[in-house]
Amino acid sequence: MTCEDAHLHMHDYISGELAREHHKPLMDHLDSCPNCKKFFLQTQQMLTSVRNAMRQEVPSDLQDAVHSILANA
Ligand SMILES: [Zn+2]
Repeated sequence: MTCEDAHLHMHDYISGELAREHHKPLMDHLDSCPNCKKFFLQTQQMLTSVRNAMRQEVPSDLQDAVHSILANA
């Protein structure tokens, strides 16, 4: 898996849309690629803290913003 693939999969993983068969390859890449792991953890943490702060689902416009960040990373 390339870093580009990993970023695309992260997008789906964080959205809860990544097929289960892709979870392990993604996790394997994150374990071997510190840059992707750092990016993944930061993105996940950001979404978690936003969700906690709002106590509801992330608004779709924020999801779009996160998606575009991921797409351009
Ligand atoms: Zn990578």
